[in-house]
Amino acid sequence: MKRKMKVGVLALQGDFEAHARVLDRLGVEWAYIRRAEELRGVDALILPGGESTTSLKFLEGDGFREAIRRLPAQGKPLFGTCAGAILLAQEVAGLPQPGLGLVDVAIERNAYGRQLDSAVRSGWCALKEGELEMVFIRAPRIRRVGPQVEVLGECEGEPVLVQQGNCLLATFHPELTDDTTIHRHFLELVRMRQTEKV
Ligand code: GLN
Repeated sequence: MKRKMKVGVLALQGDFEAHARVLDRLGVEWAYIRRAEELRGVDALILPGGESTTSLKFLEGDGFREAIRRLPAQGKPLFGTCAGAILLAQEVAGLPQPGLGLVDVAIERNAYGRQLDSAVRSGWCALKEGELEMVFIRAPRIRRVGPQVEVLGECEGEPVLVQQGNCLLATFHPELTDDTTIHRHFLELVRMRQTEKV
């Protein structure tokens, strides 16, 4: 029998509730993750938006950061949005401590400047083969994309949604619009990895 998937949502700070609402809408079982040992019970993890420096502080100690770092290699995909994307990036300008360093991109925090702190823009998304509404809030910008990284979304000519293996990274907030395309893509990835494991 096919095992039901359960998606973890890192709930240390930030907009984790918005991700949980999307997962509810899509009828997927989920659990908030606040401690390293809770990761054992989930098939994937979403790293929400918020403040990357604060999240990193919470991840210090008891092997939490390392436990998350190991998930993609265990066939458990990660999806980082905004601050979560910053945590996944290999190279980050403006982050005082190392993040998870799992995706070969260089990212710059708060890179749109004060006036453009928050904006709703229309971007292109390969998953829809068309336009997608994208909400940016004090968003980072991807400055370099490594050769193993696939660009799945662009806004104003810059990559904003990328994937490298089991890691999906969005510099905007797909959990804040009604369009569930990106979450559905992530769940499909989780499902694929689950099938490979049985
Ligand atoms: N500016 C935040 C940071 O650098 C990210 C903002 C967000 O997640 N909406 O961590």
